[in-house]
Amino acid sequence: MTVSVVLYTSDLRVHDHPPLRAALDGAQEVVPVFVRDPAVDRAGFAAPNRLAFLADCLADLDRGLTERGGRLVVREGDTVAEVLTLVRQTEADEVHMAAGVTAFAAAREARLRKVLEDDGRRLYVHDGVVTVVPPGDVVPQGSDHFAVFTPYYRRWSDQPPRTPLQAPRTLRVPPGVRSDRVPRRSDVADVSPALVAGGESEARKRLGSWLSDHGDAYEDRHDDLAGDATSRLSPYLHFGAVSAAEAVHRARRRGGAGADAFVRQLCWRDFHHQVLAARPEAAAEDYRTRPGGWRTGADAEADLAAWREGRTGYPVVDAAMRQLAHEGWMHNRGRLITASFLAKTLCVDWREGARHFLGLLVDGDVANNQLNWQWVAGTGTDTRPNRVLNPVAQGRRHDPDGAYVRRWVPELAGLDGPAVHEPWKLTGPDRAALDYPEPLIGLADGLDRFRQIRGIG
Ligand SMILES: Cc1cc2nc3c(=O)[nH]c(=O)nc-3n(C[C@H](O)[C@H](O)[C@H](O)COP(=O)(O)OP(=O)(O)OC[C@H]3O[C@@H](n4cnc5c(N)ncnc54)[C@H](O)[C@@H]3O)c2cc1C
Repeated sequence: MTVSVVLYTSDLRVHDHPPLRAALDGAQEVVPVFVRDPAVDRAGFAAPNRLAFLADCLADLDRGLTERGGRLVVREGDTVAEVLTLVRQTEADEVHMAAGVTAFAAAREARLRKVLEDDGRRLYVHDGVVTVVPPGDVVPQGSDHFAVFTPYYRRWSDQPPRTPLQAPRTLRVPPGVRSDRVPRRSDVADVSPALVAGGESEARKRLGSWLSDHGDAYEDRHDDLAGDATSRLSPYLHFGAVSAAEAVHRARRRGGAGADAFVRQLCWRDFHHQVLAARPEAAAEDYRTRPGGWRTGADAEADLAAWREGRTGYPVVDAAMRQLAHEGWMHNRGRLITASFLAKTLCVDWREGARHFLGLLVDGDVANNQLNWQWVAGTGTDTRPNRVLNPVAQGRRHDPDGAYVRRWVPELAGLDGPAVHEPWKLTGPDRAALDYPEPLIGLADGLDRFRQIRGIG
């Protein structure tokens, strides 16, 4: 019997899975394995919401493989050491895995390749599993990545699409392969109360129902905070429970302005991945340096704490921060508003905000989180690095009736309509009755301070 190992990382599915397909094409038996590696936790990728969601994904992947005659093997330890033990035990010749984009993934891949080759075996790393277009496949002349989205999007859209692969009908795992217990969501403490369920089955259901029920309206409604009409596929995409290439394929097949706008957002995901693959240091360092620094000291710490807790005195900022804590997810418009508020109105280092987001977001992703933070902070790829979002104007525009704020900030639930965005305008007993803070800083003062720090005239 020939045996191949499929090493699962951020690609927890059986549909449209090139490594699984290649392993099955080349061997009679496969060992699908996921390694719970403490180094991933130490690198800061593991947070309770993501661990809980991961447990759902692994349980569902195990079900998907079991239905096809296989099962998922789970191991705990150093990924490279565990895979080496497994290939020796099963006499596997090949290991197949998806290419990653982080420095962590690149280092793991290099170590694994060396150890396997020294042992007379081969590692196959498959592109186009995590992203639609592999990082580096489209580049501008004279550079290793695109630094501006629009030209990237044009070239990305012209790439020949890959037809999604069917899930295998059957597979065989060699007998006697030991597995640790598949983790359970209930093993994880401190999970956000309204965290969604993970897993490929849920992801596929959601993709299908969202495209048919909301896909057409996406272009018009994607910024509607209260309407909550975006796909909410981000955590499933982050864990690879659904393939981005398949999501694009199905949206294009449906067609229309809504589907096009959705595909464009998926292109943003690829865009940030190709930036990070070329500039792994951008996970922590400014992609572009800007004049001025960040506020530090006790006042800045106090502002940061108020931002984290959703008590900045700006209702739409506070609503979004509380949504994040409760659901482990935040609407994209909320992410833009809260990030701009921290980095530009409070002038606090984007890294502090990115760290807080990564601690809670179920879709928390180094490429998307860090590079979106940098985009908003003006240290990244935004071609207008000094734009500042006004949280009152943003609230009035994207939550015109104030329903989003009332949903998440119960202290303001008694205020009708858009007045909820400016509670400081209340006077007398109405104001006194509100248990809600005054704004941390006036918006005009915040803008002056930002301009001074950045040296803008
Ligand atoms: C400060 C900040 C931090 C962010 N952190 C993350 C993160 O850690 N992980 C993450 O997946 N997204 C992140 N985003 C991007 C975006 O907010 C989320 O992908 C989106 O809100 C997820 O909701 P959805 O699935 O309903 O998106 P939809 O609107 O339905 O979009 C479909 C998919 O497109 C992708 N997408 C949409 N917008 C973006 C974007 N701006 N950048 C990259 N991909 C995008 C996502 O995979 C998303 O699931 C961040 C944005 C900002 C401004």
